Amino acid sequence: MSVYLDYNASTPVDKRVLDKMIDVYRNHFGNADSRTHKHGIATRNIVETARGQMASMLGVEKHEIIFTSGATESNNIALLGLVEYGDRQKKKHIISTAIEHKSVLEPLYQLQNLGFEVEFVSPDEDGMVSSEAILSLVRKDTLLVSVMHVNNETGIIQPVKKIGETLYGTDVLFHVDAAQSCGKLIDEVRSLKYDLLSISGHKMYAPQGIGAFVMRSKSFNKPPITPIIFGGGHEGGIRAGTLPVALIAGLGEACVIAEKEHKGNWLKYIDNKNRIIEILQKSEINYTINGNKALCMANTLNVSFIGVDSEALLLSIKQYCSLSNGSACTSRDYSHSHVLSAMGLLLERTESAIRMSWGIDEISTESVEDILNCIRKLA
Ligand code: PMP
Repeated sequence: MSVYLDYNASTPVDKRVLDKMIDVYRNHFGNADSRTHKHGIATRNIVETARGQMASMLGVEKHEIIFTSGATESNNIALLGLVEYGDRQKKKHIISTAIEHKSVLEPLYQLQNLGFEVEFVSPDEDGMVSSEAILSLVRKDTLLVSVMHVNNETGIIQPVKKIGETLYGTDVLFHVDAAQSCGKLIDEVRSLKYDLLSISGHKMYAPQGIGAFVMRSKSFNKPPITPIIFGGGHEGGIRAGTLPVALIAGLGEACVIAEKEHKGNWLKYIDNKNRIIEILQKSEINYTINGNKALCMANTLNVSFIGVDSEALLLSIKQYCSLSNGSACTSRDYSHSHVLSAMGLLLERTESAIRMSWGIDEISTESVEDILNCIRKLA
């Protein structure tokens, strides 16, 4: 049977989340913005319950949460939604990193085209961006610092806690892409100091096509975001469009489950990682782990098998196992990982790297052996 090891690309939907969504699809079809009839009021209640569930998981106020289609949209709002303010305030300097997801990098290139100056900090060989390097670039005209919490390819946890604490109380805005940490590092996300946060449902057992954007208020002032799509004034005027009530209900349910179960889940992720590494160690196959193990998420392993082309490996492994050699968003093209390249890894390591990412189900020894047998044939 084929094993799924691409949870960082998308997780399955939790059965309890699916049940919740099916109930909403079956029984509640009103538009949540139809305030004049009971069908609309019923779906509005479902949306507000979900918003409360997410607020509880994140430790923020309900009114600070905007539902979006996912982290890509949230990242676009966080960056492009600041153009007007940056222009007005003559604050047109932005600091980010070279390892961000494309949904951050591409809006940043767009901002460069609009006359903003963007500096991209590279990580060290461990996959970690230095908080000192980021903070040393802050100037009087710095509008925003944008740093991901967890890198989707390496699983390396970035020092957003330190950056947020240093920037707090200054007039520099701080955006965190928490697509890979949300629902997993619950206590850490809660303790972060940020202005803007991006969340994706389908990385935390909720459906694809739903996510959230968090805008934290400071002294009752909301971050100066203007919308990037218009039409109807939904979600506090920040995100126009009819709310997908069943998806939102599913995301709310996923937050409740994550809040209850994340600690136990983490232990299961660790068991899986230990099993994979133990089998690798015994295999006598030449491998190198990319990124510092001590800084890595328990559900991710980025590993190079020197001399084995990762594209060839993924093709030969396909019948046994679904995994990837980078972000799903860039897996259509064959360019090497911009993340591993930014870490300064040699070509032989970047072209032989694969990413395994898993959930709470136990990965069997046989599944890992199937992968290793494919590697032996290609090595
Ligand atoms: N940021 C990161 C770090 C991600 O891993 C992803 C998904 N690959 C995204 C943003 C985009 O999320 P979504 O699929 O919800 O648009």
